[in-house]
Amino acid sequence: MLTSLLINDLGFADQAKIILSPNFDNRPNKSNINLIVIHNISLPPRTYGGNSIIDLFTNKINPDDHEYFKSISNLKVSSHFLIRRDGSLIQFVSCLDRAWHAGESTWNQFNHCNDFSIGIELEGSDYDIFEPEQYKCLEKLIQSILKKYPIECIVGHSDIAPSRKTDPGPYFDWTRIESYAEKLPYKR
Ligand SMILES: [Zn+2]
Repeated sequence: MLTSLLINDLGFADQAKIILSPNFDNRPNKSNINLIVIHNISLPPRTYGGNSIIDLFTNKINPDDHEYFKSISNLKVSSHFLIRRDGSLIQFVSCLDRAWHAGESTWNQFNHCNDFSIGIELEGSDYDIFEPEQYKCLEKLIQSILKKYPIECIVGHSDIAPSRKTDPGPYFDWTRIESYAEKLPYKR
């Protein structure tokens, strides 16, 4: 379990395993990081463990490995963070850079949420509860992000792209992070 977590000045969490994704670019405004977006992901859906999420974010998905992969093998996507089922933390993109996790999206009348958000993927699905170890890691990660950047709100992917996205889904327990969200200027 992570005892404490610190985001360094390069935008990396000191206790995360770093696996760099090529799928990122510059934020239009490096100092404008004010939103956390929570997602779920599993590939194929509801299959846990294995390396397919890492493969997706590093453009190494093999379309021949599974029927489901054929539809996603050309995607160029990433997230800043992934929290696996065992609570371990992987970082793919520096928080200072723009990861490609939100797609077309709107928060508080601002479009293109990737420009100003940090994306956190939980290994999971809309149909399964998340593991206690994942919440423990998520809480530490959120605390460390709030210390480092002027976050104004914590939302789910479905909040900023409601016509396209359903994650983190009905099993994500928002009450676990409500204590942080209460201190932020905007409610999800
Ligand atoms: Zn998502």
